[in-house]
Formats: sequence, structure tokens, C-alpha cells
Amino acid sequence: MSTRVTLIGNEGFLIEAGPARILIDAFYGAIPGLASASALSAHSIEKADLILVTHAHWDHFQATEVADVANRTGATVVGPAAVVNELRRKAWPERSRGLPAEKLVKLEPVSARQGFALSEKAHLSLGERSSAVRRTGEGASGASGTLTPALSPRERGGTATVTAFRTFHAMGHNSYLVETPGFRFFHDGDNEDTRRIDASALGRLDALLIGPWQGSGWVEFIEKLSPARWFLMHLSEEELDQHEAGAFLPDLCGHVPLPDRLVVLRPGQSFAFD
Ligand SMILES: [Zn+2]
Repeated sequence: MSTRVTLIGNEGFLIEAGPARILIDAFYGAIPGLASASALSAHSIEKADLILVTHAHWDHFQATEVADVANRTGATVVGPAAVVNELRRKAWPERSRGLPAEKLVKLEPVSARQGFALSEKAHLSLGERSSAVRRTGEGASGASGTLTPALSPRERGGTATVTAFRTFHAMGHNSYLVETPGFRFFHDGDNEDTRRIDASALGRLDALLIGPWQGSGWVEFIEKLSPARWFLMHLSEEELDQHEAGAFLPDLCGHVPLPDRLVVLRPGQSFAFD
């Protein structure tokens, strides 16, 4: 089963894994010098099965665009409480226009004061008209989980298991492990401290999507995870230019981890896995 990873811009990706079309941090506002402009307009998207949002910051999340795409495509939206609440309040204020409850999935793991980041998991059945969510809480959240047993017989988009890790950047920030039958990836969002993630809990990754935050232990994290490919994200246009000139990463870290597995895309560019 082939998979295609397309950078939309900043930390926004479209991941086409088998039948599943997954968008993550895909609808956002560009910030000159910090976050590259988007190569995708929300109204051009006709198919989507799953929309993930790491946190409610401007350069990762625009509620009206997420709502527009979710309404038209029937995609399931997964995000932390701040994102889900904003969607309910701003984008779907009237019940009649809102998504079915099972299409809006809040993953809000408890914050750990010390030790590894805690996680919460949802098993999703992705389909055109209905989706089923089965949740399991982990760590200290104490959530016993709720079960929505109405599994759709028509699973157009296949299935996905999403594990949210409560990582560190402002309030309510999630990093996501996404597992589909043929592809496993981890999107680290704006996590500022990868040392707080239990790398052994992530297992073998086809792709790691990560930002080069200084002091976050990201070089060692990449080496420990040893993903098949790792994608650098959250680069500005200037940083993309610097990278192309061979200067960006050598200036940032003592040594570039797994350089032969690094993929740096410009907005609109794709990488295909066989
Ligand atoms: Zn950001």
C-alpha cells in the first residue's frame, strides 16, 4: 500500500495512506519569518477522512476552515479541548449545522508534572457518513473510556488509531501518533521537549514529522526512534532557502541525525513511500 506525504506549509501535512486521507495542522495562518505560507486552500479539498489539530495557535488552526472542510467531507476532527471547544463555539454555533457528535473527538490527556508525557487514544473508523470512536485513556488520566459501538459497515476511509500525547508548548498541546493499517507516523507539533516522550512507546515509525526546536533533545530523539524517514517542519521561507544552501541544520545542531533519511519539503511538495 503506497503512501504519499505532502507538505501544505508550516506544520500542515496531507497524508494519503491507503484509502485514508489525513490532514494535520493543515488550516492555519502564515507568519512571515516564522511559518511558511500554505499551498492549499480549504475550499479546494473535496475528500478528507481525518483532520488532526495539535493546538489552538494561529499558525496551526483556523476554526472556520476546519469546520468548512469537515462539513463538506464528513471528516472526523480530532483535537485538544481548546480546539474542540472553539469549533463548537465559533464554527458550529447552531446545532443544525454541527457535525455529528462522534465526528468531533476531544483528546485531552492529563498534563504530567514530571516523567513522560501521558496519552489518550481513540480508535477511529473513517467513513463517509458515520464514524465510530472507541477511546482508551492511559496514564494518570484515569479515564476508563467510552464506547460508541455503531461501527460503520462502509469504511471508505479505513481505520486509524490516534494516540495524543500531552506534550509541552503553551496550554493544551498534543503530539500525535497515527496508526493506519499500512502506515505509522508521529507528528510532534510544537513540542518543546522531546525528552519527555517515551520513545519506546512509539514503536517503529514510517515517518516522524518534527520541528527543530533548540534545546528540546530532538537530535537524540530522532536517533533513538530511528524512523524510516524524518520530515523537518515549521520552517519559514528563509529557513527553507538556508537549508537548500546547506546551511540551516549544520548551524542548528552539532550533527545532523540520520541525514540520509531526512526529507525537507517546500509547501506543495510531496514525498511518496512505496
Ligand atoms: Zn507553531
